[in-house]
Amino acid sequence: DFLTPRKRGLAIPAGIGRSEFLKAIEDLSHTLGKEHVVLNDQPLEDGWYMEHPNTHDAFMIMDGEETVSSAVVYPGNVPDVQLVVKWANKHLIPLYPISMGRNLGYGGAAPRVRGSVIVDLGKRMNKILDINPDDCTCLVEPGVSFYALYEEIQKKGYKIWVDTPDLGGGSVIGNTLEHGVGYTPYGDHWGAHSGLEVVLPTGDLLRTGMGALPGSDAWQTFPYGFGPISDGIFSQSNFGIVTKMGMALMPDPGGDETFLYTFQNENDLLLLVDIVRPLRIANILENVAQIRHATIEIAVSGKRRSEYYEGTGPIPNEVLQSHLEKTPIGKCTWVYYGTSYGPPHVRKYKMDIVHQEFMKIPGAKRIDPTSLPKSHYYWSRAKIAAGQPDFEELSYMNWVPNGGHLGFSPVSPTRGPDVLKLWKIAKQRHDQYGIDLFMTFVVGMRELHMINLVVYDRGSPERRKAVEKCMRLMIDDAAKAGYGEYRTHLLFQDQVARTYNWNDNALMKFNEKLKDALDPNGILAPGRCGIWPERYRDRGWEI
Ligand code: ADP
Repeated sequence: DFLTPRKRGLAIPAGIGRSEFLKAIEDLSHTLGKEHVVLNDQPLEDGWYMEHPNTHDAFMIMDGEETVSSAVVYPGNVPDVQLVVKWANKHLIPLYPISMGRNLGYGGAAPRVRGSVIVDLGKRMNKILDINPDDCTCLVEPGVSFYALYEEIQKKGYKIWVDTPDLGGGSVIGNTLEHGVGYTPYGDHWGAHSGLEVVLPTGDLLRTGMGALPGSDAWQTFPYGFGPISDGIFSQSNFGIVTKMGMALMPDPGGDETFLYTFQNENDLLLLVDIVRPLRIANILENVAQIRHATIEIAVSGKRRSEYYEGTGPIPNEVLQSHLEKTPIGKCTWVYYGTSYGPPHVRKYKMDIVHQEFMKIPGAKRIDPTSLPKSHYYWSRAKIAAGQPDFEELSYMNWVPNGGHLGFSPVSPTRGPDVLKLWKIAKQRHDQYGIDLFMTFVVGMRELHMINLVVYDRGSPERRKAVEKCMRLMIDDAAKAGYGEYRTHLLFQDQVARTYNWNDNALMKFNEKLKDALDPNGILAPGRCGIWPERYRDRGWEI
C-alpha cells in the first residue's frame, strides 16, 4: 500500500472560493443525501486493484496532487445524475464522471482538472437491467463489472459468453466508452454495443438508436436507429454521462481451445504479422489474438525483476534467453496466444491451417498446453479467451518495487513492415530510458494495437520522470511515422489529440464546436481527450 500525505490541502476547483465551494457541497448533500457526498480531504491511499481509490490516480507520474478531486458524489439513479449536473452548472464546478474508475494505466479515477467533483456512478447504479438469452444481448448500468455480468449469466444458466478485457474488474460501460478490447470474437466492445442512455451536460436526458422510439424493443439489437449515429460522440469525449448501455453477447460456441506458438527471432515479427493478417480477416484466426514479447512471459510469473537481473537498464537478451530456457516454453522472442472455437472437428479444420501457416517461419514451435503447469500464464489467457474474467495479468506489477504502469498504445495496420517500425520506435526509447519492454500486439482484424505496458517504480521520482519523457517521445516518434494512439493516459491526452491534426486541426475544431454547443458552461470533464471547453481553452490548461 502506498500512502501520500497531502501537501496542498483540499483541492478547490479553480475559479471558486473555498467557502463558496464548501457551501455548494453542503447544498448538494442536502438534496442528494449526506452519505452520498464525500469531501476528498484525507491522505491519498493507493489501495490495490480490487480496492482502488476514487480520489486520485494511484499511478501518477507527475505531482500526485495535480489530478486530485475535491469530492466524490454517488448518484443513485438518473434523476440524481441530472440533479448533480444542474448543480455543477449553477456553481460552475467541473465534474468528472466515472463508472468504476479502474481505468488502470490511463488515469484510474482521476479527473484531468484538479478539484473536479467525481461523479462515481458505479457504486449505486450497478444493476444488470436485462439479459436476453434469445437475442444474446444485455442492458447494464455503469457499475456492472465484467465479473458481475459473467456471474449473473452463470447463475441464470444461460449459454452466453461475456467478452472480458485482460482485467475483469472494470465496468462494461467504462471500458466500452474508452474503446477497450477483449479476446473472444466479440473483442471490439464499442463495435458490440447497441444503444446508450445519456445525461447531457445541461441535464437533459437522451437515448440513442432505437431507444429514441418509444416502445421499441430493438434498442439492443439495432444500434443505428434513424438519422446520424450520435453514439460515437459519447465515447472518449466529455459530451455526456452515460447511464445505460446495451451490448451484444456471444452465444456459447460449443467448445474452445487456446493455442500457443513461439517464434525465435526479433525479425520473425515481420513474417508472422503478414501470415496473421489474411487468416484473421478470413476468420480462420477467430479471436483478438495476442503476440507478446518474451519479456512479459517471465514478468507475468509475478517474480521481481531483480530475481532475473540486478543490473540497470533493460534486461539484456542473453539474460532473458537463459531464463526462458528454464521455462516450459523455452528460448524465444515472440509468443502467440490464439483461440479456436466450436466443436472439435470445426476447430481442427481451422487449427490445421493455422499450424501449416505458422510453421512456415523457421524455428516456430507449437507448445503443447498439457505440458504447462497450472500456474502458467497460458491458463489465464485460455480463460479470458473463453469469456471468463480474470486478473492474473496484474502479476507483472511485482516486477519493480511499488509497481505502477502506463499504457502506450498506438494503432497500426496488421502489416509486418508497420509493426516492425513501431516496435523499433518503442524499443529505442525504452532502451534510452532503461525500461524493460513489455509489449503485446493485440490483433483486432485489419489493424492491431501495439500495447506497451511501461512498468515503473512509483516511489522513485527519477523513474517517474524517465517514464514521462519516454512516453512523450514515443508519442511524437510514432506520430511522425504516421501512427496514433487509440487511447492514452489523462496526462498525455492533449499531446495525443494534437497529433490528430489533419487539415489545420479540423477534427479538434469540430469537437470544440460540439463541446461549446452541448456544454456551454464547460462543466463536464474539461480537458478529457484533449477537448477543452471555451472557458478553459488557451488559458494554460493544455499540456
Ligand atoms: P472502469 O469502470 O472500467 O474502471 P472508468 O470508470 O475508469 O472505467 O472509465 C474510464 C473513463 O471513461 C473515465 O475516466 C471517464 O472519463 C469515462 N467514463 C466512464 N464511465 C462513464 C460514463 N458512464 N459516462 C461518461 N464517461 C464515462
